[in-house]
Amino acid sequence: MESLPYIHPDLTIDESPTKGRLVKATSAIKRGELVLKDGPYAVVPALLIDEPPFLLCNRQGCSRRIPREYAHTSPHRLHRCPDRCLAEVVWCEEQCRSKDTQRHQFECLWLKKTSREIRSSYGDTEFVLLWLIIRMLINRHLKEEAGSKAQTSPPNGTSIEPEVKGFDTSECPKQQSVQWQGSHFSRRGWDSVWNLEGDPSFFSPDKVKHWHTMTSNYICNGILPLKYPVDEIVDVICKIELNSFGLYPGVTGQYPVISTQGRGDYYGGGIYPTAAMFNHSCCPNVTHELDDFGRRHFRAGRDIEIGEECCISYFDLAEYPGSTARREAIKTSWNFACDCRRCEEDMEVPGFLQALNLDI
Ligand SMILES: [Zn+2]
Ligand SMILES: [Zn+2]
Ligand SMILES: [Zn+2]
Repeated sequence: MESLPYIHPDLTIDESPTKGRLVKATSAIKRGELVLKDGPYAVVPALLIDEPPFLLCNRQGCSRRIPREYAHTSPHRLHRCPDRCLAEVVWCEEQCRSKDTQRHQFECLWLKKTSREIRSSYGDTEFVLLWLIIRMLINRHLKEEAGSKAQTSPPNGTSIEPEVKGFDTSECPKQQSVQWQGSHFSRRGWDSVWNLEGDPSFFSPDKVKHWHTMTSNYICNGILPLKYPVDEIVDVICKIELNSFGLYPGVTGQYPVISTQGRGDYYGGGIYPTAAMFNHSCCPNVTHELDDFGRRHFRAGRDIEIGEECCISYFDLAEYPGSTARREAIKTSWNFACDCRRCEEDMEVPGFLQALNLDI
């Protein structure tokens, strides 16, 4: 069985004094080529109150997207938790539900004991963030348990990697992992999450204090047998805040922007630890799109030259046709001043033209 991530053999991780780690092409890559395919370490669905286009199968190794209408028109096609812990918890088929029993037992307990209180006291956004953290910690815990069991029993060749459904290997040549030894591209599982950029120094002391309180009250509160220290979990929250991806139906980062349609409505969020190495550009050379099972496909949006940095867009470029609004959005949401080629060229445009907010 092929496992994710798939990384194009001509990609490498480089370091720049101003931008930190970045992804670079070591030879020319043709437009349309698959450069990376990554599966989520964990994902959570959007809440039904936000009317997302899709629900997600709750089994993390499946994460199949299910049209939201199924919840109303074909309820028999969805498998729900017998404890009715949360309306968003559904499985695409009985097999997924039964395979997810052990993991969901932990999550179910946590959802029943905390979800109502977090949502009413802190709001849905905070709840979804903590739900994602809990999913990550449960995945880590189960993997560690399975690992320690595997060490004490004779090797039988059983893989503890999550099963990847319907994975098409035709586009993925054999991986030559030797070239990435010691770099982020060689890390897998929790190790790749922990190696991501992000710690409390990136955020205001008030924000960090708030995450400490949330972690103490709702994660390290004895409901689950997770033995991770509060400080470590706060570090994980910082990494999530800087590196998570939203789930949208359409393509992100097509440039030049040819359609005003955009990528569609949000239906979830998750952490893709290998893909999180891509930096942002407002004129990216890499696009990304999800398949039906939450896997993210990154393709060259144009021909990429040898030595060129490979960048994605962190948001829907179609939403910001004007440069002023776009740069302000980057500053507010990601707290950096973008210095991509497009932003540099925009700076040379006279202010009165920029104020018209045209895509120039
Ligand atoms: Zn499923
Ligand atoms: Zn449940
Ligand atoms: Zn830019």
